[in-house]
Amino acid sequence: RETRARSARVRFVLESLASLSRDVAAAGSRLALAHGDPVTTVVAAARAAKVDAVHWNDEYEPAARDRDSRVEAALLAAGIRVQRFHDRLIVPPGAVQSGSGTPYTVYTPFRKACEGLPIPEPFDRVTRLAAHDLPAPPLATLAQLGLAETTTAAWPAGEAAAEARLARFLSTGLARYASDRDFPAQPAVSQLSADLRFGTIGIRRVAHAALEAARLDDALVEPTVKYIQELRWRDFFAHVLFHFPHVATGAFRPEYDALRWRGTDAEFEAWSQGRTGYPIVDAGMRELLATGFVHNRVRMIVASFLTKDLLVDWRRGERWFMQHLIDGDLASNNGGWQWAAGTGTDAAPYFRIFNPITQGMRFDGAGTYVRRWCPELAALPDDQLHHPWEAPPLTLAAAGVVLGETYPFPIVDHAERRQQALDMYAEVKGTTGKPLTESPDERMAKAARLRKARKPDA
Ligand code: FAD
Repeated sequence: RETRARSARVRFVLESLASLSRDVAAAGSRLALAHGDPVTTVVAAARAAKVDAVHWNDEYEPAARDRDSRVEAALLAAGIRVQRFHDRLIVPPGAVQSGSGTPYTVYTPFRKACEGLPIPEPFDRVTRLAAHDLPAPPLATLAQLGLAETTTAAWPAGEAAAEARLARFLSTGLARYASDRDFPAQPAVSQLSADLRFGTIGIRRVAHAALEAARLDDALVEPTVKYIQELRWRDFFAHVLFHFPHVATGAFRPEYDALRWRGTDAEFEAWSQGRTGYPIVDAGMRELLATGFVHNRVRMIVASFLTKDLLVDWRRGERWFMQHLIDGDLASNNGGWQWAAGTGTDAAPYFRIFNPITQGMRFDGAGTYVRRWCPELAALPDDQLHHPWEAPPLTLAAAGVVLGETYPFPIVDHAERRQQALDMYAEVKGTTGKPLTESPDERMAKAARLRKARKPDA
């Protein structure tokens, strides 16, 4: 199963490389490929091509930073210059800091600080590239990489596909983004996360395309503001990982590493296969398996369910997502999971627990999303769809639903598990003293959160 999983993302990368290879050829050169240790391969290629300098765009994950420092040191030792550029995010790590001179650990003040900086324009397109004699072997296939063929090929890759997604979003999604982006059945989101992850489109290109659309049409100003705010979540989590690399393996707030997760393997299995008996959760997990993508609202719901209803360690869910998501990205995935588990930086305190029934009714009221992924429930009326175990026997019979046979009974009772989750978090809360960092902006945000967050369901 592992290999089938990762193949969705690897296929996306291979197709993107094939498309890049065609573009490089059209610019008069060839895409050179090499497999192996980055230090050896890059230095050998630079020597073979007799270049004066090697240029690259920086990446900010701990392993990538380590790799790049090693490559840079080896190139410099070989007398080859290195030119590094910032490209990946709107704002590079370190460019903003809180009033107390520390990295931001709360999104809203981070975003406001970033909004004070200009969003740089995209660079001009490269149209001519130098020829070279480096080997350009054919791209590996999934089979050669030991990966299974994927059934999730419905996600075209490469720059042209990314531009097509952007164009579709600008013409039909952006206008509804502010109002409809939380509804998984609505085509209101851009679906550009995998492109941004792998660089088949640039963040400046995306941001400026939306700004340009808003410049031409006043009605697009509000949704564009909202859209760019969402893009900045990606920056935020990348900055968090950059400044606090311990989040890659443990809770942002170390006291939460002591949580005693009680969920069982059987419960994890039911969650991962979309068989929990909670339709919105099952729909999301089945969409992930079938397509490698899940809508953000549903990611939040299924992540809350795994951690707060099944009491399974968020890292298991994080790993499962990473294996299956085409857009799987260490910083965003980790940030999303820690947000949902309430172990992270921001505004999801542990006592805010999503109710999967009311979330389903609120964000998929007409049931379009659940019916698409749980077709065995399709004939249930809307008002029973998100909690079929409470439907009258005649309604179930008329819809052809036999609980325990055609669709599972709920594997846990939400109200009961909610209380158990609160108890589990209460066991560790505050036991190891202060949170990791508490800047003034965080103290203010925390006070505001505490005032607001007493509602049982967000
Ligand atoms: P849009 O709404 O169109 O947003 C545009 C872009 O903004 C996205 O493509 C993405 O790059 C960025 N963005 C929007 N919301 C977020 C967010 N909350 N966090 C970070 N970036 C955001 N996103 C990933 O790219 N990779 C992941 O591995 C990933 N894992 C996640 C795990 C969990 C548990 C959660 C709750 C969220 C995760 N996200 C992840 C964030 C978000 O769900 C996706 O970026 C979004 O659903 C992609 O769809 P879109 O491009 O249509 O989003």
